[in-house]
Amino acid sequence: MKSKNPSHISTQIIHHDYTPPAEFQAPQPGVFKASTVFFPNVAAMRQREWKDKSAYTYGTHGTPTSFTLEERLCTLEGGKHCVLTPSGLSALAVASFAVLKTGDHVLLPDNSYGPNKVLAEGELASFGISHTYYDAMNPQDLASKIKPNTQLVWLEAPGSVSMEFPDLIGLVKVCRSQQVLIALDNTWGAGLAFKPFDLLGDGSLAVDFTAHALTKYPSGGGDVLMGSVMTCDDALALKLKMTMMRLGICVGPNDVESILRSLPTISLRYAAQDRTARLLAQWWKSQKACVQVLHPALEGSPGHAHWQALCAPAGSEGFAAGLFSVMLDPSLTQDQVDAFCDHLKLFKIGYSWGGPISLVVPYNIGNMRSEWPSHLQKGYLVRFSTGFEDPHDLIQDLSNAMTQCLNF
Ligand SMILES: *Cc1c(COP(=O)(O)O)cnc(C)c1O
Repeated sequence: MKSKNPSHISTQIIHHDYTPPAEFQAPQPGVFKASTVFFPNVAAMRQREWKDKSAYTYGTHGTPTSFTLEERLCTLEGGKHCVLTPSGLSALAVASFAVLKTGDHVLLPDNSYGPNKVLAEGELASFGISHTYYDAMNPQDLASKIKPNTQLVWLEAPGSVSMEFPDLIGLVKVCRSQQVLIALDNTWGAGLAFKPFDLLGDGSLAVDFTAHALTKYPSGGGDVLMGSVMTCDDALALKLKMTMMRLGICVGPNDVESILRSLPTISLRYAAQDRTARLLAQWWKSQKACVQVLHPALEGSPGHAHWQALCAPAGSEGFAAGLFSVMLDPSLTQDQVDAFCDHLKLFKIGYSWGGPISLVVPYNIGNMRSEWPSHLQKGYLVRFSTGFEDPHDLIQDLSNAMTQCLNF
């Protein structure tokens, strides 16, 4: 402190001598908030490096709070470097912007999270970056669409809304043989269902990036938006950090704290929501109004064997998140399906998932895919995400709404 004993009260309370005792320990790490970060002297300011986490330079480049979450997420997903972004979608954007330039080509699964396709059709296209959609259920289709200027392939498992599980290992092998970068949207797996940076368990096969909507399971509250991008590669990590720095992308420490507070229970919550989703999916199987249940852990669901190989080794129960869809009979009307959703009391109508309250959304798959996927029955798709309500109450809720709206 430069000025000892300033005489005015306003200065005294700002430049105060008190330092609390060190060694404060409690269940949660503290929240450090800063735009400005102090340097002890000018020389230190000039020397300090923001690109590694050895020191602090400015709020956008991180605080002890954000560094702590990044390191814990690296442990969860098996990555080495992590950056935090203000939403899951911005995580997808940062990964793409970090490695794509004008003239490049990017491949996305036709069943990917919709806004990632919208980004490709919008900003990426306007920056002169072309894209093609591939059939995630057909590694040959991916192989045939890789071009000399293909720089990046996006992967997602399972497919968004339609929940088919791809041969992720087969898709990664195709990319590896063609030397293109691989980014996986790992929101569903959350670092729990499988290990994207070590797909075979022997360290030989991995994706280059994972992007993760922390908004979902890491938050678990339905009240925070955040994303992460992770890599094990030092050079790719630097590209991510440079993109973040140039775009000025960072997250608020209070939001980081919310995620830090939820993270210790992620595996318990994931397992509970998974259990409930499987019970509900099983119930749907015996309902006359339902022509197909789309849940990767359910036998007969598209890609079930791929899910089993990756997420449920050696006949274990495995991991499958709290998300599934049903295809309702095409002889119903959209009005009946909408009325069914409206009549649900415990399931709220809303996007996203991973929070405490069960959610329902009817989707029109015909508008979301280049063509109707051959593994999907024709009908009306409704997606459910399970919260923490008792599964018997949820089934009663479904049953009541079905009796009122889906009798045919
Ligand atoms: C929700 C979600 C995102 C986007 O996350 P936001 O935080 O809502 O922007 C991206 N990918 C997948 C698979 C998601 O489910």
